[in-house]
Amino acid sequence: DALLKAFARILEREAPRPVLVARMLADAFLVLFPYKGKEELVTYCEAYSRALNGFIVSREQNYQLELRSGICCVEDSDASDINSLLDRANMALKTIKMKGAAQWKFYDRTMRDKLLREKDLEIRMEKALADGEFLVYIQPKYWVGTRALAGGEALVRWNRPGSGVISPGEFIPVLERSGKIRALDRYVFEKVCIWLGERKRREQETFPVSVNLSRSNFIYDSFLEEFIEIADRHQADRNMIELEVTETVFLTEENIQKVKREIRAIHDCGFRCALDDFGVGFSSLTLLKEFNIDSLKMDRSFFSDLDNAKTRNVISCILELAEQLDMETVAEGIETEEQIDSLRRLGCDVVQGYYFSRPLPQEQFERWIQEFEEIHVREDRE
Ligand code: C2E
Ligand code: MG
Ligand code: MG
Repeated sequence: DALLKAFARILEREAPRPVLVARMLADAFLVLFPYKGKEELVTYCEAYSRALNGFIVSREQNYQLELRSGICCVEDSDASDINSLLDRANMALKTIKMKGAAQWKFYDRTMRDKLLREKDLEIRMEKALADGEFLVYIQPKYWVGTRALAGGEALVRWNRPGSGVISPGEFIPVLERSGKIRALDRYVFEKVCIWLGERKRREQETFPVSVNLSRSNFIYDSFLEEFIEIADRHQADRNMIELEVTETVFLTEENIQKVKREIRAIHDCGFRCALDDFGVGFSSLTLLKEFNIDSLKMDRSFFSDLDNAKTRNVISCILELAEQLDMETVAEGIETEEQIDSLRRLGCDVVQGYYFSRPLPQEQFERWIQEFEEIHVREDRE
């Protein structure tokens, strides 16, 4: 309380006249005053921060507080009423995420455009699912040694009328934040089951197809019962479906126990399980032994400098560990013949990447695997 009171006084004292200072809620304050230029506003932010920490020092408390400011200048905004200006200052404030990064941010229109676009995506998604605007592409995976088809990964695309094909990098984070991603994951899963069931009825060869699972599936109640029902309804063999989870599902200690149970349950009902994007973020080797995982997908960042002996050593250690833990290894994002040669020598099992094929729409994928097979058989005969 003493700090909040002192800070309110600091805000008033350091600002030019006339000024209006108000405490909005908790530790959020509003300051309104006329200004000449933006540099001047930065100077005020710095003065506030200095004075705030000066107050603390004078109380012999030796910690630092970070002051974060979202600034909306009237001339940068398309609004002139106070509430809209305040909203915009808040938008700017929310873009300051990282500790230690710049402690103030000016509002600009792109922030609002981005927010509106995200909101729009979120609202349109449900209708888009019903209208079949989401398409499931499949990218093939191949055994490194024999170059035979090892399976595929289902990757979603949003074919938005008027906007063209939007890649998941753009809409998945938005859907994750709003919790709507589970509906999309279920949709992709069902499309894959329908396809696997169809192939089986047509007596065509089937192979494992993996489906990405977002982190929110592990936060709320289990998705598994629903997935089992969907797979069985479409007569897809459960052991032909692999669920990919990324390391970010393990973010909290509490979650680790939950995820562990969930992964065990995934196996108990006959699905396979892969760890996706291994190597990005906080990869921990101890996680590998904790979880019962069938395949380890190493992120493409590993394979960008295979000329470097250290890189090769790291990869080789991970491959060896995976082998000892009885996991299949998959190299992601492989684009060149040289990478394939290195990976073969290092003992990686499977590769996925543009070298073989980009993710393809289902019909194209079927055609592709057939043609690839024919070329392969022909090469073998020759
Ligand atoms: P991911 O699961 O790691 O998928 C691999 C990504 O790498 C795909 O990007 C794929 O197109 C791309 N890729 C494959 N080969 C190459 C290559 O040789 N070079 C390069 N530069 N890239 C390659 P995409 O399709 O844009 O997907 C991005 C991410 O979005 C996926 O990463 C996955 O985490 C997520 N995602 C995709 N579909 C779904 C879905 O249905 N549900 C959920 N929850 N996430 C999905
Ligand atoms: Mg994946
Ligand atoms: Mg990946």
